[in-house]
Amino acid sequence: MTPHAPRIALAVVLLLCACKPPGEGVIALEGGTLIDGSGTAPAADALVLVEQGHIRAVTHMSEADVPRGAQVVNVAGKTIIPGLIDAHAHVERWAAGRYIAWGVTTVRDMHSRADSGFALRNDLNLAAILGPRMFTAGPLIDGAPPTYKDATGVAVGAEARKAVDQRAVAGADYIAIYTRITPALLRPLMDEAGTLRLAVAAHLGKIDALAAARAGVASIEHMSGVVEAASPNPASYYRAHDRFLAGWTMEETGWGRLDSGAIARTARALARSRVAIVPTLVQHEMLSRLNDPTLLTRPTMADVPRWAASVRDVAGLLKRSGWRPADFAAFRRGRARQDQFVREFKRAGGLIAAGSDAASPLLVPGAALHDELELLVSAGLTPLEAIGAATRQAAQLLRADSLGLLAPGKVADLVVLNGNPATDIAATRDIAWVMTRGRIVYPDSVRRGWPK
Ligand SMILES: [Zn+2]
Repeated sequence: MTPHAPRIALAVVLLLCACKPPGEGVIALEGGTLIDGSGTAPAADALVLVEQGHIRAVTHMSEADVPRGAQVVNVAGKTIIPGLIDAHAHVERWAAGRYIAWGVTTVRDMHSRADSGFALRNDLNLAAILGPRMFTAGPLIDGAPPTYKDATGVAVGAEARKAVDQRAVAGADYIAIYTRITPALLRPLMDEAGTLRLAVAAHLGKIDALAAARAGVASIEHMSGVVEAASPNPASYYRAHDRFLAGWTMEETGWGRLDSGAIARTARALARSRVAIVPTLVQHEMLSRLNDPTLLTRPTMADVPRWAASVRDVAGLLKRSGWRPADFAAFRRGRARQDQFVREFKRAGGLIAAGSDAASPLLVPGAALHDELELLVSAGLTPLEAIGAATRQAAQLLRADSLGLLAPGKVADLVVLNGNPATDIAATRDIAWVMTRGRIVYPDSVRRGWPK
């Protein structure tokens, strides 16, 4: 090597630097109001720099220059929020684009068939198809026989352990248990899940919420088991849960039989246990109005294909359940108690994550999460707290540190809104565009491409 070689190399490097602007590949979002997901007040005149699918910087317009060569996007008058996370979904392949069009960039799937669920997760997470990033439990673990044919029914502790092992091997992100799991099955199941470091999400039927929380479950889905925990004698509830619909009916009407003191005590005890609650108020709300035929023709139903029975087949559920007008009236009486529970749990410092239960009857993938945000605010959360429940808190539940917050180093999943949801939560529905993994997507163009 000649003595001049280092100097020539340096000159070449400097030349390359001069050709490639420092902002190449950077997207600069200028002048919007920022709600970062942390729960802090909205920040006006924000500058958000995105590079290679991640947030590079979040600052005030006056505090930093946009690097030369960056793609500048003016978002003045608009509000930027983190990509929304649906913390309780049953993800079907047709729905993938719907989530993105509604600003939902991550889903926490609670039950999917072993083959199709993991395949869908791979397609979504490798960005082979447009849709949200997906976390999944794989098939539910239930008592025997299982409520659903495609779940796994376990009769003894050894089977419960084996079902957990199978999910660990298959790559499940967590475990989801269902209504027929008993305390005797939960113990070995929790022990095995603890060994494998898998969180357990619980839709309870035969265990009260407080007992499940103390056994270490990470989350209580639909506020299941709360009525049992608040009732002096829950044995009849546990018996009813031998049959899924009978148990569901009794638990849903049970809310209306609770007094406010019992709800407050149970909410405080659950908050102390550190368990998270995914209330799915929208699922309770729709259940209480299932006999209202106008819900089938409301505008958001246009997003649901004609053949999507999971959302559209209300008649089938009404027939199977035999629910009468008196049942719906009883369900509606319980709604105020459910709202009170959410309010007390929040006040006691409990972690609430927003989930929709889509695509269950009348719950439209993507749109139903916005219904949930409105219902959380009606129940007593502030709009910022509701947004936190669908961003930072949901990410905490997923143990996904890179999601749910707009800060340097986090994933560039965000939603640009035409209005400001801090003053009116309904503004989350008015979406200008969505960014997923640093890529800008327009809802209208997604809608044009999906099957009707
Ligand atoms: Zn569900």
